[in-house]
Amino acid sequence: VSDPVAIGIDVGGTKLVAATVTADGTVLDRQRRETPARDGELLQRTLARCVVELGGGEGRLPVGVGIAGLVTPSGEVRYGPNIGVRDLPLASRLAETAGCEVSVVNDATAATFGEQRIGAGRGRDDLLMFTLGTGVGGGVVVGGEVLIGHAGFAGELGHVIVDEGGRACPCGNRGCIEAYASGTSMGLIARERLVDLSVDTTLRDEAELTGRTVTRAALAGDTFATSILAEAGWWLGVAAASLVNVLDPELILIGGGAALQTSRWVLPAAETALAEHLIGSPWRVAPAFELAALGDDAGMVGAALLAAKRATAAGGAAR
Ligand SMILES: [Zn+2]
Repeated sequence: VSDPVAIGIDVGGTKLVAATVTADGTVLDRQRRETPARDGELLQRTLARCVVELGGGEGRLPVGVGIAGLVTPSGEVRYGPNIGVRDLPLASRLAETAGCEVSVVNDATAATFGEQRIGAGRGRDDLLMFTLGTGVGGGVVVGGEVLIGHAGFAGELGHVIVDEGGRACPCGNRGCIEAYASGTSMGLIARERLVDLSVDTTLRDEAELTGRTVTRAALAGDTFATSILAEAGWWLGVAAASLVNVLDPELILIGGGAALQTSRWVLPAAETALAEHLIGSPWRVAPAFELAALGDDAGMVGAALLAAKRATAAGGAAR
């Protein structure tokens, strides 16, 4: 087994996972902890402890952190609603405490980079990725580089508006793709439609309606549930058409916790909607939708590989 090149940490709303990662993306030692909520100082100290326990710190290994929220290019978490932090200079604080180089990026951006380097997007220089879960995240690779943007906020594909004035999104806008394709939204849509008593579905017996319960019913053959998943896929395809018109990627990846089990309904509907809305459809081959390959490790591995890449670039520049 080769030596680790970086430590990757994926900070989610409830738990965080950290590991040492080799250049080919192999995960070595792994740690799992609860994410401290609404406490930036404790979060920073928890991450520093992970780094030290994984054999990092004091300049030994660069550290990459993927975290849900808006992250600036210098690694300040401007707004992380799931974790409950604002204006937290995480990269500089962690670098100081642990004594190592630290990169902090949005979690879906990290996952997209991981998929492009060693996952389902390997060898593809232009791709998009949607991550489906409680919310909808995303990432963009253009010309082999993952897009960070001017302020660091590029790749928020979940908030592409597909229906102006449509369903309310947690971000405050209406009609974002997240308001149709997130697990939370699918649960809400199901609940609203159950008001119609002619709808025949096993979901009536569920105490709680979430993306998970909708998916479980779909897997058991409930056609009402499968129609909700197909509709989510349709809206993803509509959003993808605009993005493909702008960026012309080779491939569109669907990742995140909900992707694998829902793909047989989501992907065909997304492909149909993309073909119907793409400019010049009859004269081009639309990019395929494919499942991401790295599963839950994508963000952690991507953050590690991005940190290793940046450390190498910085070392090269210093020489
Ligand atoms: Zn939104």
